[in-house]
Amino acid sequence: MKFATKAVHKGIQADPTTGALMTPIYMTSTFLQEAPGQGTGYEYTRAGNPNFTILESLLATLENAAHATVFSSGLGALTALVTSVLSSGDLVLGINGLYGGTFRLFHQMFQRFGVRFVSVTPKTVGELENSVKELKPKWLLLETPTNPLLEIFDIAAFAEVAKKYKLFFVVDNTFATPYLQNPLDLGADLVWHSTTKYIGGHSDVIGGAMMSNHPEIKQKLDFARKSVGVNPSPFDTWLVTRGVKTLAVRMKQHEENGGKIADFLASHPKVKKVHYPGLSSHPHHAIAKKQMRGFGGMVSAEFNFSIEETKRFIASMELFALAESLGGVESLVCHPVTMTHASIPPDERKRMGISDGLVRFSVGIEDASDLIYDLAKALS
Ligand SMILES: *Cc1c(COP(=O)(O)O)cnc(C)c1O
Repeated sequence: MKFATKAVHKGIQADPTTGALMTPIYMTSTFLQEAPGQGTGYEYTRAGNPNFTILESLLATLENAAHATVFSSGLGALTALVTSVLSSGDLVLGINGLYGGTFRLFHQMFQRFGVRFVSVTPKTVGELENSVKELKPKWLLLETPTNPLLEIFDIAAFAEVAKKYKLFFVVDNTFATPYLQNPLDLGADLVWHSTTKYIGGHSDVIGGAMMSNHPEIKQKLDFARKSVGVNPSPFDTWLVTRGVKTLAVRMKQHEENGGKIADFLASHPKVKKVHYPGLSSHPHHAIAKKQMRGFGGMVSAEFNFSIEETKRFIASMELFALAESLGGVESLVCHPVTMTHASIPPDERKRMGISDGLVRFSVGIEDASDLIYDLAKALS
């Protein structure tokens, strides 16, 4: 079965008592037991719920994984993973360009419990290997495409290093989605998603998920969800399940619009540089073509603007709403320097390549000509 078919059909499980074709929402905290210790397999929703099970089998299928566990949020999922497999003294090697909240969770929370976090930007696989030899991490944590510069790292090459040094290799696949990229097929041990973004797709729910082929990891994640209490609500998992049914058609349109916006910006005199892996001028275009089935709907661009001019440009747009987050059907715009990356000192930001005039677009599924008209008007 192909992706679009699985996305529609794997989330449908008719209700056995009424025949309702669409899965009911099991809004219950607890489940009846016929005799003490004898039940349906569900006991209490913190530990499990039919709506979780259905979304888990759907997401596992889409990532070509044996197992999935769903959580209250992307960061809730990471909390479950860290608390169930890492111990005081363990080191996580992160590749720069990770979601800001990931960085904050390690630095401001887990560090106090002795879990260490170091981030590097390896230019080559050799550089990555040197960092691994020097730092002796337990995990390798990668997000590709990166945020907000949309750099691409070679997942298969990283997986080789992870295998050689017996590291647990985690890939945050939120930006690409399983429609465009399957990290487990490229050698990752675990794929992680914020289902809040493209998977949910409508900016109306917060959720997270982790998929792997390791039964002992599945067991640990389920145990951590129950023990820590990072379960989603049945309604939220139902919403995400509904969202997934249109993931393929949405991603096609995000991708088409993203390409058109990137081309428009690349030809505009007020634009200094466009960051979009689909452009042949992108430094990692070849890797993107190798490991992804498309380039997605995230586009960043640097404008020849001061901070004030950038703010005026952003405020002049009507269709692109100024907001954090991404991956919804509606277009969003974000100014990393004053929003997502404001807490990073200016010198450090410059070193990371995040300039005052950098603007990130989450291109929605509207008609591309309307989006381009909106951008052109705001630019003029
Ligand atoms: C949003 C996001 C997260 C965190 O997910 P939440 O659902 O907001 O907790 C992690 N990684 C990436 C790439 C994200 O965009």
